[in-house]
Amino acid sequence: CTGEIMKGKVTLGSLRVRQDYLIAEGLLAPYDDEEKPDAMMEMSLARIRQLSAHEVGHTLGIQHNMAASTQGRASVMDYPHPLIRIDDDGNVDLSHAYEEGIGAWDERVILWGYQDFPDGTDRKAARDQIMADTIDAGHVYVNDPDSRPVSSANPLGNLWDNGADSIEELEHLLRVRAIAMQNFSARNTRPGQPMAGLEEVLVPIYLLHRFQVIAVGKNIGGYTWTYTLRGDGQEASTPVSADRQRQAITALLETLTPAVLRVPENVLALIPPRPPGS
Ligand SMILES: [Zn+2]
Repeated sequence: CTGEIMKGKVTLGSLRVRQDYLIAEGLLAPYDDEEKPDAMMEMSLARIRQLSAHEVGHTLGIQHNMAASTQGRASVMDYPHPLIRIDDDGNVDLSHAYEEGIGAWDERVILWGYQDFPDGTDRKAARDQIMADTIDAGHVYVNDPDSRPVSSANPLGNLWDNGADSIEELEHLLRVRAIAMQNFSARNTRPGQPMAGLEEVLVPIYLLHRFQVIAVGKNIGGYTWTYTLRGDGQEASTPVSADRQRQAITALLETLTPAVLRVPENVLALIPPRPPGS
């Protein structure tokens, strides 16, 4: 085996886009009338652009880096949660839900794996230098199998999370969720649609913080570690500080309070059983 990739082929389905559209409908309560505002479709298309870059990354042999979202969306090879902002008027803003283009980590990976070195270059030494520079610049990398289990130890490695500080992001998402729940109304579905269908719009909003909860949980008993090689200068493994672990416990307990768990009366009153045949 030479390690060369002869062909890569990827098929993109519509599932992710549909899910994003649903999240946007839930967050924005967008339907004054028959008109469909552009924001939902724009967010969905931004997602599929990002996903396309991700899949092209795989065809080039690049693995997931589930830690990249802790460094400002440094890689298209992470699993991205939409970045949801609250604007100055207290409204949910999805205009920066997904990053455009590739990230700083992706550039380092391509530089290492696909650099065309001039003739006469000691390629191994040149690649070692690229790796050393990458480590010096502070890039972090946690691969898929070390991130996917809820029980995995490294708090940097998470799917569908955001932010350099997982606890701050959880608190932010709870604020976004509270705004969306407060605004939840008939405007979350189009005129003429069954009101019962609002339950489908509600679910991803009610569970909006579920992945960030996992990211915060990994601080508890967690270790920040690296795939260090002897002599490369990286710290092998460092326990999460006791203070940080206590903050994580407090943040998680907040998600279990009645104020967070309860479905508000205004929402309950909106959703009847489904009409027959729908
Ligand atoms: Zn992937």
